[in-house]
Amino acid sequence: MNLYDETQMLLNQYGLKAKKKFGQNFLINEEVINSIIEKSEITKNDVVLEIGPGLGTLTKALLKSAKKVIAVEIDEDMVDILNKRFDEPNLEIINEDVLKLDLNEITKKEGKLKVVANLPYYITTPIVMKLLESEYDIASITVMVQKEVGERLCSGGNSKDSGAISIAVDYYSNSKIIIDVPKQNFLPSPEVDSVVIKLDILDKPRVELVNKKKFFNLVKAAFSQRRKTINNSLSSGDYSKEDINNALEKLKINPKLRAEDLTINEFANISNTLEEIK
Ligand code: SAM
Repeated sequence: MNLYDETQMLLNQYGLKAKKKFGQNFLINEEVINSIIEKSEITKNDVVLEIGPGLGTLTKALLKSAKKVIAVEIDEDMVDILNKRFDEPNLEIINEDVLKLDLNEITKKEGKLKVVANLPYYITTPIVMKLLESEYDIASITVMVQKEVGERLCSGGNSKDSGAISIAVDYYSNSKIIIDVPKQNFLPSPEVDSVVIKLDILDKPRVELVNKKKFFNLVKAAFSQRRKTINNSLSSGDYSKEDINNALEKLKINPKLRAEDLTINEFANISNTLEEIK
């Protein structure tokens, strides 16, 4: 039976429909699943955290490749199906909102995790930010996201696609888009295409910062007024216009550039210089 028929059959069998409010778009292409498994580089030594296993299509493949799968699912109906479908000893199902979960409790017990998921699109960014900012013991994050979001997350600095979140991703990881997934590979088919991205978490963040909180405030200030030149947009943060101009001059960075023209190193240099001269 192909995955489309299997997904339909499971939903019919349990009298369910995909729930929009939980972002349920089930993957129905075996090749995409195989490709995720291959490119996420999961081995029998790995404990995988799967966020939103749904009916268990990706879970089934992960169980064959990983040492253990910890699957966190918010929807009780899905958890019920998963419990009936699987009796593998290397699967642990947690019925919880992933945004409320303290992953430190899991990593303390299991060691370093690899995250693999077809993420619910309505909370992609909060999930990715939680995984990165909490500095959990995570080796890599391989996740399906909307194409446009994936491009932004993986663009780093100095690109038209860059946003504050691209700088955050760049701070914590090496990121890349690894698979293009057109919308017809899901049931129901969403409105836009998707991509799978892989974030390999760095042993230590990409740049050294004197004040991490103020660095991210500065980045956010710059991108929240992305059409303005940096001598104007940066001063809406923690620093005066005069300090910003002095820092840019000291670093020989053109004040007429915009947020999207700067690399993470330039943002870091500006932030660190501002902390020095203030
Ligand atoms: N992994 C399945 C697949 O690929 O077919 C389903 C993916 S579907 C895009 C997203 C899944 O995340 C759904 O099963 C949904 O119920 C679940 N989900 C939504 N919000 C969640 C949350 N806050 N915490 C955990 N799971 C969530």
